[in-house]
Amino acid sequence: MSFTDQKRRAATAHDCHTKWGLEGDGFRCALCGHRFKEGDGYRWIYGDARVFMSSDGRTLGVRNFLTCDECDGADVLDRWVERNREFYSSRFWALR
Ligand SMILES: [Zn+2]
Repeated sequence: MSFTDQKRRAATAHDCHTKWGLEGDGFRCALCGHRFKEGDGYRWIYGDARVFMSSDGRTLGVRNFLTCDECDGADVLDRWVERNREFYSSRFWALR
């Protein structure tokens, strides 16, 4: 079984020391930034199929992500899409 089954897991020492993401420091909740420690609950979420419209009219996709127990819920993917939409809105032009 792989973490891509989107089921909740408890972080192992191996999980915590594995390189996650391009920078290797991606074993964190995408919504609150929590850095997972051994024993923390986490879940990998498939987001690649979701797209949204940016404020300048581009259709953008969202990436797969990890969530912590506190941020997880039935609408976690919707909240992730909304966070992406906000980031690509004209409000945060200076951050991109
Ligand atoms: Zn979180």
